Amino acid sequence: MQINRMLLYGPALLFAACLCTRCQSPQAEKSTAVPNLVLILADDLGYADVGFNGCKDIPTPHIDRIANEGVVFTNAYVTWAACGPSRAGLITGRQQERFGFRRNPLFAPNDPDMGLPLSEQTLAEALGQVGYRSAAIGKWHLGAHPSLRPLQRGFDDFYGFLTGGHRYFPEEWTLEDEYQVKSQFAAYRTKLLRNNQRVEEEEYLTDALSREAVHYIREYKDDPFFLYLAYNAPHGPLQATESYLDRFEHIEERKRKTYAAMVSAVDDGVGRILDQLDQLGLSDNTLVVFLSDNGGPEHVNASDNGSLRGRKGQLYEGGVRVPFAMRWPSEFESGQRYDSLVSSLDIFATMAARSEERITLRNPLDGVDLLPFLNGEKEGSPHQALFWSIHDREEVAVRSHQQKLIVGSPEAQLYDLRTDIGESENLAEKQPAVVDRLQKQQKDWLSTLAAPTFMGLAQDSLYNVLHPDRFVRPGENQ
Ligand code: CA
Repeated sequence: MQINRMLLYGPALLFAACLCTRCQSPQAEKSTAVPNLVLILADDLGYADVGFNGCKDIPTPHIDRIANEGVVFTNAYVTWAACGPSRAGLITGRQQERFGFRRNPLFAPNDPDMGLPLSEQTLAEALGQVGYRSAAIGKWHLGAHPSLRPLQRGFDDFYGFLTGGHRYFPEEWTLEDEYQVKSQFAAYRTKLLRNNQRVEEEEYLTDALSREAVHYIREYKDDPFFLYLAYNAPHGPLQATESYLDRFEHIEERKRKTYAAMVSAVDDGVGRILDQLDQLGLSDNTLVVFLSDNGGPEHVNASDNGSLRGRKGQLYEGGVRVPFAMRWPSEFESGQRYDSLVSSLDIFATMAARSEERITLRNPLDGVDLLPFLNGEKEGSPHQALFWSIHDREEVAVRSHQQKLIVGSPEAQLYDLRTDIGESENLAEKQPAVVDRLQKQQKDWLSTLAAPTFMGLAQDSLYNVLHPDRFVRPGENQ
């Protein structure tokens, strides 16, 4: 129970502690202005596919600029090993299993339960209380029902698509709206939405999203703003323009070449955004965050998780440890490498802490304010442990300091990440006491979670049987 209480209320206690230290610290006196937030999320990007994590064949100079002018997190995690639940954790600052978001949601525009429950508060809603304007650009994946879309979840503007992926070339966007979709992945062909209106877009998708990001920075420049830029690149399908492909003549393998071109397009977009912030004089007081929503599915999109074992969908490091960098020139020094445990949950907490006396949080957060750890006010690790769960496979994992325990089929696996980052030597038999201790932590954590509130991708066929009106426009006969 001790652990449960810490998990539920620990961050709130940390908030209070942070307030006190900030009040007393000269460093904190700089923290008067509320920062803008530009949150850039890549999709299925491999851990080792950015320059700041050692990538050699795909230059990412602009993404690396965030790292070089800020901090690289070497032990940074998302909360799930695939898209939807990871995003639900990111945007609420809460471990998404607490509210039943335990599967990758289906595209189901008539289902008000398929997505982020209305009981949850998004970061855009929280920041809206203190005058922020917010835009969501790109992939949403938190619900396609009209009640669950970005403008209903605290965002002032939206440009993008509702489902878990999209094709990249405009000529393939042949479906006028969600009711012309007749199967899960046909939704990849819908026209884009600007707010609630379908639009005719002519650019390669990644370039279009970058253009819109720059547009909203200019539009919002006089207010504090939150830009949530959720690229779907380099998630499949693998599609790139010739101009990006031409940069990678040195890569012969077609999949890797196309993947590289897609990552390069994201990098160009990051460059356009950083340049726009510079031109408007906003860089100093803008927190720019770059991360991936899960590890690379190496076999699918030719991504590379480097020395990490496993891939998207798995609880090995390759599924949940992600490239993660942050820049905020007015608040912490450049060129840092930060090795303690951090989570995508911490972004919400870090932003909320800047305005916490004026924000009413609907639910307790699970993240931690990272700023005191980055500007030297606090030492130690922001997290003592991080947890993951894949409900449908009955798998659970915990990382506590350098030890990691994965329980599921076929057996318990214990790894020491300090000496074995590739999770190659299972120490479970040699260290049964450690297994027992970590398993107890897992059980305590699991007891705080809710049952799944919707069916996911794995239940697509069953869902279709149970919901024959899945794609039928309300009011029309099937
Ligand atoms: Ca993903």
